[in-house]
Amino acid sequence: MCMDNRKRLNIPEKFAYVIRTGAGNLRTSEFKVSYAIAVGGVRAIALIGHNNCGMANLKAKEQKFIDGLVEVGWDRKAAEDHFNHFAPMFEIGNELDFVMSEVKRLRQRYPKVLVAPMMYKLEDNRLYLLKDDKSEG
Ligand SMILES: [Zn+2]
Repeated sequence: MCMDNRKRLNIPEKFAYVIRTGAGNLRTSEFKVSYAIAVGGVRAIALIGHNNCGMANLKAKEQKFIDGLVEVGWDRKAAEDHFNHFAPMFEIGNELDFVMSEVKRLRQRYPKVLVAPMMYKLEDNRLYLLKDDKSEG
């Protein structure tokens, strides 16, 4: 699931493995996912994105990101390199499209695991199950 520091979901004990990651981007947590599936026996994943996500259009925050690191003592060049190295892996573009593409990727990688695309809406605090090609018809 992806959730930032603004929200916390109430989940019963021993109910689920929870991986918090920017934008529900599991490309950066692949090993944890494999562990939960292979060792933990997980057979269903709810991939939860949310609107108004900080990882959407990350490129637009480049200057703020770099300035913010310089402010806490980073060398400017190192901060620029840091951003350029990691931004492509964390950039999601648009929240909705990203969740759908990430779900598709996970289904290919873990074919026997059920992966459901979901979206959390900050304004109404509700969770929405997204429709995709697989669930239609
Ligand atoms: Zn987010």
